[in-house]
Amino acid sequence: MAVSALSAGLRCRCPNCGEGPVFRGFLKFKERCEACGADLTVADAGDGPAFFVMFAALIFIVPLAMFFEFGVRPPGWVHVLIWPPVTIAFCLTLLRPIKALMFALQWKHKAGEARLVDEPKQE
Ligand SMILES: [Zn+2]
Repeated sequence: MAVSALSAGLRCRCPNCGEGPVFRGFLKFKERCEACGADLTVADAGDGPAFFVMFAALIFIVPLAMFFEFGVRPPGWVHVLIWPPVTIAFCLTLLRPIKALMFALQWKHKAGEARLVDEPKQE
């Protein structure tokens, strides 16, 4: 049965079997899946997850801060107290599932680094 990249990614599970956890630290991938033995070193999401999480933070948190400013009109130090921890918590919460999701999508679509010469097909 095919594993859904969306489901496996958002649950931070192996994109091959959907069972074994992919992380061995906060953001470090394991080298092999504990459940199926899949080699998890073949893909690398790079900076993609950080970009998408920062972009989501921009889209959600900046409007919240603006509504708060225009609705409540708090002193500036209130913004300094509220928004940095909210932004950090938002980013740290999303980073793991988004990284695992991008990894699962790379796995599913067999994405790799761009090369000048095509490698022979492996089927
Ligand atoms: Zn697995």
